[in-house]
Amino acid sequence: MNLFVANWKMHKTRGEARAFADELSALLGPSAPSIELVVAPPLTALDAARDAGPRARWSLAAQNVAAEAEGAFTGEVSARMLANAGCRYVIVGHSERRRLFGEDDALLKRKLTRVREAGLIPIYCLGETEEERVMSLTAATFVRQIDTLCDDPPDTPLVVAYEPVWAIGTGNAATPEDAAAARAHLAELLSSRRDVRILYGGSVTADNAASILERSGMSGFLIGGASLKPTSFAAIAGIRLRTED
Ligand code: PEP
Repeated sequence: MNLFVANWKMHKTRGEARAFADELSALLGPSAPSIELVVAPPLTALDAARDAGPRARWSLAAQNVAAEAEGAFTGEVSARMLANAGCRYVIVGHSERRRLFGEDDALLKRKLTRVREAGLIPIYCLGETEEERVMSLTAATFVRQIDTLCDDPPDTPLVVAYEPVWAIGTGNAATPEDAAAARAHLAELLSSRRDVRILYGGSVTADNAASILERSGMSGFLIGGASLKPTSFAAIAGIRLRTED
């Protein structure tokens, strides 16, 4: 089943998250969509972003997780706490965390272990920088970043988001052909996994989503900016909007 993940980053208060949830709920109507939807709000809005309908039509992801299980780590939130707060997924390895917060492969490995201990599913992000792309280092970057998953049990569900760093928040999405080539390479590197979905992320909008999805073979998207509005998130997910009802 295709998967569409809304990564809100550091946006939305609890009231704004509740308004999003109410609007998305109205757009979806009573039936469960035939695709999977996930919302990754800031921690303070996890409860508010929950599906208030009788049957959950979207699940929750956390945007980050502590590398330790428990203890004196001021400001950290553990995987067990996230599971207890209703999360099903955790984003691990987003390029903003790698770049702005210095998260390296060793730290990401520890985070992945904590995520699995808590029974959560990682949405593991990877992708080359502009510099790596220009120097033809994309393939080597994939190998290095996939190697971070070497201790992750191959028989557990996994989501990998290919997010070229140069495409995130720039309005310069990868072409469907580039995304298809990346998907093929990543699928090969992940061929020992039993249950893996590969998503694309980077400047996806309601205008380019259908063509990237159809022509790249990706199993969905990780969406930043365009996921902040329920109408564009739903449109990207290919949901026929119920606005005229
Ligand atoms: C992201 O940050 O994961 C992302 C894909 O952002 P955007 O859609 O805004 O490029």
